[in-house]
Amino acid sequence: MQQRFPVTRSQTHFFRGGGFGSVLVRLGLLDAVLALGPPRLTHQYDFRRNDPTPAVGGPQDPGELGYCLSVRRRPLDHLLVERARETPGVDVWEGANARSVLRDGERVSGLTVERGGVSHEIRAQVVIGADGRASALARGINAPVERRETAARAMYYRYVRGWRGPEGFCNGPEFSFQGDEIVYAFPSDDDLTCIAVSVNLDVFTTFRRAPEAMFAERIAAHPGLARRYQASRPEGRMLGSGPKDALVRTPAGLGWALVEDASLNQDPWTGLGMDNAGLHAVFLAEAVDAWLSGRSDEDDAFAHYRSRRDEHAMPGFIMTAELGRDLSALPGD
Ligand SMILES: Cc1cc2nc3c(=O)[nH]c(=O)nc-3n(C[C@H](O)[C@H](O)[C@H](O)COP(=O)(O)OP(=O)(O)OC[C@H]3O[C@@H](n4cnc5c(N)ncnc54)[C@H](O)[C@@H]3O)c2cc1C
Repeated sequence: MQQRFPVTRSQTHFFRGGGFGSVLVRLGLLDAVLALGPPRLTHQYDFRRNDPTPAVGGPQDPGELGYCLSVRRRPLDHLLVERARETPGVDVWEGANARSVLRDGERVSGLTVERGGVSHEIRAQVVIGADGRASALARGINAPVERRETAARAMYYRYVRGWRGPEGFCNGPEFSFQGDEIVYAFPSDDDLTCIAVSVNLDVFTTFRRAPEAMFAERIAAHPGLARRYQASRPEGRMLGSGPKDALVRTPAGLGWALVEDASLNQDPWTGLGMDNAGLHAVFLAEAVDAWLSGRSDEDDAFAHYRSRRDEHAMPGFIMTAELGRDLSALPGD
Protein backbone atom coordinates (compact mmCIF):
# COMPACT_ATOMS: atom_id res chain seq x y z
CA MET A 1 0.00 0.00 0.00
CA GLN A 2 1.48 3.29 -1.09
CA GLN A 3 1.37 5.76 1.75
CA ARG A 4 2.17 9.33 2.60
CA PHE A 5 1.96 10.52 6.16
CA PRO A 6 0.01 11.63 8.00
CA VAL A 7 -2.89 9.45 6.89
CA THR A 8 -6.50 9.14 7.95
CA ARG A 9 -7.27 5.68 9.22
CA SER A 10 -10.47 3.94 10.17
CA GLN A 11 -9.36 3.37 13.73
CA THR A 12 -10.24 4.73 17.13
CA HIS A 13 -7.23 5.55 19.28
CA PHE A 14 -7.57 5.05 23.01
CA PHE A 15 -4.36 3.90 24.71
CA ARG A 16 -3.01 3.39 28.20
CA GLY A 17 -0.26 5.11 30.16
CA GLY A 18 1.49 1.79 30.82
CA GLY A 19 1.23 0.81 27.14
CA PHE A 20 1.64 3.18 24.21
CA GLY A 21 1.90 6.11 26.67
CA SER A 22 5.16 4.65 28.05
CA VAL A 23 6.51 4.38 24.49
CA LEU A 24 5.75 8.07 23.87
CA VAL A 25 7.76 8.90 26.99
CA ARG A 26 10.62 6.72 25.76
CA LEU A 27 10.56 8.49 22.38
CA GLY A 28 10.55 11.90 24.06
CA LEU A 29 7.22 12.69 22.40
CA LEU A 30 4.85 12.96 25.34
CA ASP A 31 4.99 16.76 25.62
CA ALA A 32 4.36 17.17 21.89
CA VAL A 33 1.40 14.80 22.12
CA LEU A 34 -0.03 16.61 25.15
CA ALA A 35 0.36 19.90 23.26
CA LEU A 36 -2.29 18.57 20.84
CA GLY A 37 -4.69 19.00 23.76
CA PRO A 38 -6.02 15.53 24.63
CA PRO A 39 -7.40 15.49 28.17
CA ARG A 40 -5.56 13.29 30.67
CA LEU A 41 -7.91 10.35 31.21
CA THR A 42 -7.42 9.83 34.94
CA HIS A 43 -10.80 8.16 35.48
CA GLN A 44 -13.06 5.64 33.81
CA TYR A 45 -16.86 5.55 33.66
CA ASP A 46 -18.65 2.23 33.18
CA PHE A 47 -22.38 2.09 32.46
CA ARG A 48 -24.19 -1.21 32.81
CA ARG A 49 -27.43 -2.03 31.06
CA ASN A 50 -30.08 0.58 31.71
CA ASP A 51 -28.46 2.27 34.68
CA PRO A 52 -27.74 5.91 33.71
CA THR A 53 -25.35 6.27 36.66
CA PRO A 54 -21.85 5.04 35.91
CA ALA A 55 -19.45 3.15 38.15
CA VAL A 56 -16.45 5.48 38.45
CA GLY A 57 -13.01 3.92 38.56
CA GLY A 58 -9.36 4.72 37.95
CA PRO A 59 -7.64 4.47 34.55
CA GLN A 60 -6.76 1.10 33.03
CA ASP A 61 -3.04 0.24 33.24
CA PRO A 62 -1.99 3.86 33.89
CA GLY A 63 1.73 2.98 34.30
CA GLU A 64 4.06 5.67 35.59
CA LEU A 65 2.20 8.25 33.53
CA GLY A 66 -0.88 7.80 35.71
CA TYR A 67 -3.45 8.26 32.94
CA CYS A 68 -4.68 7.09 29.54
CA LEU A 69 -5.03 9.17 26.36
CA SER A 70 -6.97 9.26 23.11
CA VAL A 71 -5.28 11.06 20.21
CA ARG A 72 -6.42 10.98 16.59
CA ARG A 73 -4.07 9.03 14.37
CA ARG A 74 -3.49 11.86 11.88
CA PRO A 75 -1.71 14.25 14.30
CA LEU A 76 -0.22 11.37 16.28
CA ASP A 77 1.29 9.67 13.22
CA HIS A 78 2.61 13.02 12.02
CA LEU A 79 4.61 13.39 15.25
CA LEU A 80 5.89 9.81 15.04
CA VAL A 81 7.02 10.18 11.42
CA GLU A 82 8.76 13.50 12.14
CA ARG A 83 10.50 11.88 15.12
CA ALA A 84 11.74 9.08 12.85
CA ARG A 85 12.83 11.57 10.18
CA GLU A 86 15.04 13.48 12.60
CA THR A 87 16.67 10.33 14.01
CA PRO A 88 20.28 9.91 12.79
CA GLY A 89 20.66 6.94 10.46
CA VAL A 90 16.97 6.81 9.52
CA ASP A 91 15.76 7.50 5.97
CA VAL A 92 12.00 7.99 5.69
CA TRP A 93 10.56 7.17 2.28
CA GLU A 94 6.97 8.25 1.85
CA GLY A 95 4.76 7.07 -0.98
CA ALA A 96 6.83 3.88 -1.13
CA ASN A 97 5.41 0.42 -1.56
CA ALA A 98 7.16 -2.76 -0.35
CA ARG A 99 6.58 -5.09 -3.30
CA SER A 100 8.50 -8.32 -2.91
CA VAL A 101 10.97 -10.11 -0.71
CA LEU A 102 14.58 -10.75 -1.75
CA ARG A 103 16.20 -13.98 -0.58
CA ASP A 104 19.61 -15.44 -0.25
CA GLY A 105 18.82 -19.17 -0.06
CA GLU A 106 16.53 -19.65 2.95
CA ARG A 107 17.40 -16.25 4.31
CA VAL A 108 15.44 -13.05 3.67
CA SER A 109 18.00 -10.52 2.53
CA GLY A 110 16.03 -7.47 1.46
CA LEU A 111 13.02 -5.99 -0.25
CA THR A 112 12.01 -4.60 -3.61
CA VAL A 113 10.45 -1.21 -2.93
CA GLU A 114 8.65 0.90 -5.49
CA ARG A 115 8.72 4.65 -5.21
CA GLY A 116 7.63 7.17 -7.81
CA GLY A 117 7.34 4.44 -10.45
CA VAL A 118 10.96 3.33 -9.82
CA SER A 119 11.78 -0.06 -8.35
CA HIS A 120 14.62 -0.21 -5.78
CA GLU A 121 16.33 -3.33 -4.44
CA ILE A 122 17.25 -2.74 -0.81
CA ARG A 123 19.50 -5.28 0.89
CA ALA A 124 19.41 -5.62 4.67
CA GLN A 125 20.60 -7.85 7.50
CA VAL A 126 17.04 -7.90 8.78
CA VAL A 127 13.73 -6.91 7.17
CA ILE A 128 10.96 -5.89 9.56
CA GLY A 129 7.31 -5.86 8.54
CA ALA A 130 5.39 -3.25 10.55
CA ASP A 131 2.92 -3.04 7.69
CA GLY A 132 -0.31 -3.96 9.38
CA ARG A 133 -2.69 -6.89 9.33
CA ALA A 134 -2.42 -7.46 5.56
CA SER A 135 1.40 -7.31 5.78
CA ALA A 136 3.17 -7.63 2.42
CA LEU A 137 6.19 -9.12 4.20
CA ALA A 138 4.05 -11.75 5.96
CA ARG A 139 2.53 -12.71 2.60
CA GLY A 140 5.87 -12.60 0.79
CA ILE A 141 7.50 -15.05 3.18
CA ASN A 142 4.30 -17.01 3.78
CA ALA A 143 4.60 -16.46 7.53
CA PRO A 144 2.69 -19.23 9.31
CA VAL A 145 -0.59 -18.25 10.95
CA GLU A 146 -0.39 -19.91 14.36
CA ARG A 147 -3.82 -18.96 15.58
CA ARG A 148 -6.95 -17.60 13.92
CA GLU A 149 -10.13 -16.48 15.65
CA THR A 150 -13.20 -16.04 13.47
CA ALA A 151 -14.49 -12.48 13.38
CA ALA A 152 -17.47 -11.85 15.65
CA ARG A 153 -17.82 -8.06 15.71
CA ALA A 154 -17.67 -4.79 13.75
CA MET A 155 -17.16 -1.20 14.85
CA TYR A 156 -18.52 2.17 13.75
CA TYR A 157 -17.46 5.55 15.10
CA ARG A 158 -17.67 9.28 14.63
CA TYR A 159 -16.40 12.47 16.24
CA VAL A 160 -18.49 15.00 18.13
CA ARG A 161 -17.80 18.42 19.60
CA GLY A 162 -19.20 19.76 22.83
CA TRP A 163 -19.15 16.42 24.65
CA ARG A 164 -19.57 16.72 28.39
CA GLY A 165 -18.43 13.88 30.61
CA PRO A 166 -20.74 12.38 33.26
CA GLU A 167 -19.45 14.90 35.80
CA GLY A 168 -19.63 17.83 33.36
CA PHE A 169 -16.01 17.64 32.15
CA CYS A 170 -13.88 15.14 30.23
CA ASN A 171 -11.49 13.20 32.41
CA GLY A 172 -12.11 9.59 31.42
CA PRO A 173 -13.25 7.19 28.72
CA GLU A 174 -16.81 5.95 28.98
CA PHE A 175 -17.91 2.38 28.33
CA SER A 176 -21.61 1.55 28.12
CA PHE A 177 -22.54 -2.14 28.03
CA GLN A 178 -25.94 -3.14 26.70
CA GLY A 179 -26.51 -6.79 25.80
CA ASP A 180 -23.96 -7.88 23.19
CA GLU A 181 -22.87 -4.30 22.47
CA ILE A 182 -20.59 -1.60 23.83
CA VAL A 183 -20.68 2.10 23.16
CA TYR A 184 -17.49 4.05 23.88
CA ALA A 185 -16.76 7.73 24.38
CA PHE A 186 -13.09 8.69 24.10
CA PRO A 187 -12.40 12.39 24.85
CA SER A 188 -9.59 13.23 22.43
CA ASP A 189 -7.35 16.02 21.11
CA ASP A 190 -8.72 19.22 19.54
CA ASP A 191 -11.80 19.15 21.85
CA LEU A 192 -13.21 16.25 19.86
CA THR A 193 -14.69 13.14 21.41
CA CYS A 194 -14.70 9.86 19.54
CA ILE A 195 -17.97 7.95 19.97
CA ALA A 196 -17.84 4.31 18.88
CA VAL A 197 -20.08 1.29 18.93
CA SER A 198 -19.02 -2.34 18.71
CA VAL A 199 -21.80 -4.61 17.43
CA ASN A 200 -22.15 -8.32 16.70
CA LEU A 201 -22.49 -9.72 13.19
CA ASP A 202 -26.30 -9.93 13.29
CA VAL A 203 -26.57 -6.22 14.01
CA PHE A 204 -23.77 -5.49 11.51
CA THR A 205 -25.81 -6.87 8.60
CA THR A 206 -28.51 -4.24 9.23
CA PHE A 207 -26.05 -1.57 10.36
CA ARG A 208 -24.10 -1.55 7.10
CA ARG A 209 -27.26 -0.80 5.11
CA ALA A 210 -28.04 2.43 7.02
CA PRO A 211 -25.06 3.29 9.20
CA GLU A 212 -26.08 6.87 10.08
CA ALA A 213 -29.57 5.89 11.23
CA MET A 214 -28.38 2.76 13.00
CA PHE A 215 -25.63 4.63 14.82
CA ALA A 216 -28.11 7.13 16.24
CA GLU A 217 -30.49 4.30 17.13
CA ARG A 218 -27.82 2.30 18.96
CA ILE A 219 -26.56 5.28 21.00
CA ALA A 220 -30.17 6.13 21.93
CA ALA A 221 -30.41 2.68 23.52
CA HIS A 222 -27.66 3.58 26.03
CA PRO A 223 -29.34 5.74 28.68
CA GLY A 224 -26.07 6.87 30.28
CA LEU A 225 -24.90 8.48 27.02
CA ALA A 226 -27.98 9.15 24.88
CA ARG A 227 -28.88 12.62 26.06
CA ARG A 228 -25.30 13.88 26.03
CA TYR A 229 -24.84 12.48 22.50
CA GLN A 230 -27.90 14.39 21.30
CA ALA A 231 -26.58 17.58 22.90
CA SER A 232 -23.20 17.29 21.13
CA ARG A 233 -22.40 18.29 17.53
CA PRO A 234 -21.27 15.59 15.09
CA GLU A 235 -18.19 16.51 13.07
CA GLY A 236 -17.16 14.76 9.87
CA ARG A 237 -18.55 11.57 8.47
CA MET A 238 -19.09 8.30 10.19
CA LEU A 239 -16.36 5.69 9.83
CA GLY A 240 -16.46 1.96 10.25
CA SER A 241 -14.49 -1.24 10.17
CA GLY A 242 -16.12 -4.52 9.22
CA PRO A 243 -15.47 -7.93 10.76
CA LYS A 244 -11.98 -9.37 10.35
CA ASP A 245 -10.54 -12.60 11.69
CA ALA A 246 -7.93 -12.14 14.42
CA LEU A 247 -4.50 -13.59 13.59
CA VAL A 248 -1.34 -14.56 15.40
CA ARG A 249 1.58 -15.10 13.03
CA THR A 250 5.02 -16.57 13.65
CA PRO A 251 6.82 -13.31 14.41
CA ALA A 252 10.35 -13.93 13.13
CA GLY A 253 12.62 -16.15 11.08
CA LEU A 254 15.90 -16.03 9.18
CA GLY A 255 16.52 -12.38 8.38
CA TRP A 256 12.93 -11.22 8.98
CA ALA A 257 10.54 -10.17 11.73
CA LEU A 258 6.94 -9.02 11.97
CA VAL A 259 5.73 -6.58 14.56
CA GLU A 260 2.49 -5.01 15.71
CA ASP A 261 -0.64 -5.93 13.71
CA ALA A 262 1.48 -7.78 11.15
CA SER A 263 2.44 -10.24 13.89
CA LEU A 264 -0.67 -10.24 16.11
CA ASN A 265 -3.98 -8.50 15.53
CA GLN A 266 -7.37 -8.75 17.11
CA ASP A 267 -10.85 -7.26 17.20
CA PRO A 268 -10.65 -3.64 18.37
CA TRP A 269 -13.39 -3.89 21.02
CA THR A 270 -10.80 -4.13 23.82
CA GLY A 271 -8.65 -1.33 22.34
CA LEU A 272 -5.36 -3.16 22.92
CA GLY A 273 -3.77 -2.73 19.48
CA MET A 274 -1.83 0.49 20.00
CA ASP A 275 -0.44 -0.63 23.37
CA ASN A 276 0.65 -3.91 21.78
CA ALA A 277 2.06 -2.12 18.73
CA GLY A 278 4.21 0.26 20.78
CA LEU A 279 5.44 -2.24 23.35
CA HIS A 280 6.16 -5.00 20.82
CA ALA A 281 8.16 -2.57 18.72
CA VAL A 282 10.31 -1.98 21.82
CA PHE A 283 10.64 -5.75 22.42
CA LEU A 284 11.73 -6.26 18.79
CA ALA A 285 14.14 -3.30 18.78
CA GLU A 286 15.82 -4.69 21.90
CA ALA A 287 16.07 -8.16 20.35
CA VAL A 288 17.60 -6.84 17.11
CA ASP A 289 19.99 -4.67 19.09
CA ALA A 290 21.10 -7.68 21.17
CA TRP A 291 21.73 -9.66 17.97
CA LEU A 292 23.44 -6.97 15.87
CA SER A 293 25.65 -5.84 18.75
CA GLY A 294 26.79 -9.45 19.32
CA ARG A 295 25.23 -9.96 22.76
CA SER A 296 23.01 -12.72 21.41
CA ASP A 297 22.73 -14.82 18.28
CA GLU A 298 19.83 -14.31 15.88
CA ASP A 299 17.86 -17.40 16.99
CA ASP A 300 18.06 -16.56 20.69
CA ALA A 301 17.26 -12.91 20.12
CA PHE A 302 14.14 -13.72 18.09
CA ALA A 303 13.08 -16.49 20.51
CA HIS A 304 13.25 -13.89 23.28
CA TYR A 305 11.21 -11.43 21.20
CA ARG A 306 8.61 -14.07 20.56
CA SER A 307 8.28 -15.08 24.22
CA ARG A 308 7.97 -11.43 25.32
CA ARG A 309 5.27 -10.81 22.68
CA ASP A 310 3.32 -13.92 23.69
CA GLU A 311 3.61 -13.32 27.41
CA HIS A 312 2.45 -9.75 26.99
CA ALA A 313 -0.26 -10.11 24.37
CA MET A 314 -1.75 -13.62 24.38
CA PRO A 315 -3.91 -13.23 27.53
CA GLY A 316 -5.50 -10.12 25.99
CA PHE A 317 -5.81 -11.80 22.58
CA ILE A 318 -7.66 -14.79 24.09
CA MET A 319 -9.86 -12.60 26.27
CA THR A 320 -10.72 -10.36 23.32
CA ALA A 321 -11.72 -13.35 21.18
CA GLU A 322 -13.60 -15.33 23.83
CA LEU A 323 -15.58 -12.53 25.48
CA GLY A 324 -16.05 -10.79 22.12
CA ARG A 325 -18.30 -13.64 20.93
CA ASP A 326 -21.03 -12.45 23.29
CA LEU A 327 -20.50 -9.38 25.44
CA SER A 328 -23.75 -9.98 27.30
CA ALA A 329 -21.85 -12.74 29.12
CA LEU A 330 -19.37 -10.24 30.58
CA PRO A 331 -19.06 -10.46 34.35
CA GLY A 332 -21.34 -7.95 36.05
CA ASP A 333 -23.63 -7.55 33.04
C1 LIG B 1 -12.11 0.28 14.01
C2 LIG B 1 -10.84 0.10 14.79
C3 LIG B 1 -10.73 0.73 16.02
C4 LIG B 1 -9.56 0.58 16.79
N1 LIG B 1 -9.49 1.19 18.00
C5 LIG B 1 -8.39 1.06 18.75
C6 LIG B 1 -8.26 1.76 19.98
O1 LIG B 1 -9.14 2.52 20.40
N2 LIG B 1 -7.11 1.57 20.70
C7 LIG B 1 -6.12 0.74 20.25
O2 LIG B 1 -5.13 0.59 20.96
N3 LIG B 1 -6.19 0.10 19.08
C8 LIG B 1 -7.29 0.25 18.32
N4 LIG B 1 -7.36 -0.40 17.11
C9 LIG B 1 -6.24 -1.24 16.68
C10 LIG B 1 -5.06 -0.39 16.22
O3 LIG B 1 -5.49 0.62 15.34
C11 LIG B 1 -3.99 -1.27 15.56
O4 LIG B 1 -3.71 -2.35 16.40
C12 LIG B 1 -2.71 -0.48 15.32
O5 LIG B 1 -2.97 0.61 14.45
C13 LIG B 1 -1.66 -1.39 14.70
O6 LIG B 1 -0.60 -0.61 14.27
P1 LIG B 1 0.33 -1.14 13.06
O7 LIG B 1 1.41 -0.12 12.96
O8 LIG B 1 0.68 -2.55 13.23
O9 LIG B 1 -0.60 -1.13 11.78
P2 LIG B 1 -1.23 0.06 10.99
O10 LIG B 1 -1.62 1.14 11.93
O11 LIG B 1 -2.28 -0.59 10.13
O12 LIG B 1 -0.04 0.62 10.08
C14 LIG B 1 0.54 -0.15 9.04
C15 LIG B 1 1.22 0.79 8.06
O13 LIG B 1 1.92 0.04 7.07
C16 LIG B 1 1.65 0.62 5.81
N5 LIG B 1 1.79 -0.42 4.77
C17 LIG B 1 1.00 -1.49 4.56
N6 LIG B 1 1.46 -2.21 3.51
C18 LIG B 1 2.55 -1.57 3.04
C19 LIG B 1 3.47 -1.81 1.96
N7 LIG B 1 3.34 -2.88 1.16
N8 LIG B 1 4.48 -0.95 1.78
C20 LIG B 1 4.63 0.14 2.59
N9 LIG B 1 3.81 0.42 3.63
C21 LIG B 1 2.78 -0.43 3.84
C22 LIG B 1 0.22 1.11 5.93
O14 LIG B 1 -0.06 2.04 4.92
C23 LIG B 1 0.24 1.71 7.33
O15 LIG B 1 0.73 3.02 7.32
C24 LIG B 1 -8.50 -0.24 16.31
C25 LIG B 1 -8.59 -0.86 15.06
C26 LIG B 1 -9.76 -0.68 14.30
C27 LIG B 1 -9.84 -1.37 12.97
